Amino acid sequence: MPKRLDKLKFPLKGKYVALVAPGFVGDFSYQGILYKLKKLGFDKIVELTFGAKMVNREYQKKLKNVKKMMIASTCPGIVSVVKDKFPELKDNLLKIDSPMIAMGKICKKHFPEHKTVFVSPCDFKKIEAENSKYVDYVIDYQELKKLCRIHKIKNPLFKKKLKFDKFYNDYTKIYPLAGGLAKTANIKKIIGKDEFVSIDGIQKVTKFLEHPPEKIKFLDCLFCEGGCIGGSHTTKKLSIAQKKKKVLNYLKRAKREDIPESRKGLIGKAKGLIFSVGK
Ligand code: SF4
Repeated sequence: MPKRLDKLKFPLKGKYVALVAPGFVGDFSYQGILYKLKKLGFDKIVELTFGAKMVNREYQKKLKNVKKMMIASTCPGIVSVVKDKFPELKDNLLKIDSPMIAMGKICKKHFPEHKTVFVSPCDFKKIEAENSKYVDYVIDYQELKKLCRIHKIKNPLFKKKLKFDKFYNDYTKIYPLAGGLAKTANIKKIIGKDEFVSIDGIQKVTKFLEHPPEKIKFLDCLFCEGGCIGGSHTTKKLSIAQKKKKVLNYLKRAKREDIPESRKGLIGKAKGLIFSVGK
């Protein structure tokens, strides 16, 4: 149990915004998670997809004219392993916010009165949040399910369509999948398809980092097999392939969804915010 969860009392009183990564569909239904979080007292609920879009823009900028192999830093599990096991590569980690931190910044700008609460598939995100002023609390998927049992909150029976409050972005719904960053940021157009590699699963990543080929300029990697859908607090009742299918279906559905401009994650809504360090 993270120490920060102890400080939250459910149902919440006051203003809280929940930040949800699109990989949630492996564990919860679309309407289900919105309904449950509302019942637990969240005033607002947003997805990380807009944060991922803004983060991608930083990757595109920083990977232009790159000279040495740079490593994606979206996954705090990877950041921690590189710092501990490959300290000689720590400067190769790109100093770019993760989508969670980026979205925390966006929420603090738009909802300055709200506390930000990330709904997490893993424990590494709790450590990342502990070190950031943009995410105030973290609850993981198992904790959320437990809270729903305690408060007797089940999936909604009604047909009314609940929606995230703001910042919709469709194509970054696949961000939690292996290779999601490289694909959605269109990295192959920036450094060439032979110069980057996407690897998921820490054993494979570690093996790669022991002898990275010289031609590789960018390593897009995630700690968990399959990406965040394989996180330590995600359900084990479904295979990675089944969860991946759910995310892909979610993307398809999102492309058909009728979202008004006011709810979209338009770049101007992040005006004035900085998502990376250095050039
Ligand atoms: S890949 Fe795993 S460790 Fe990394 S952020 Fe996703 S769930 Fe957490």
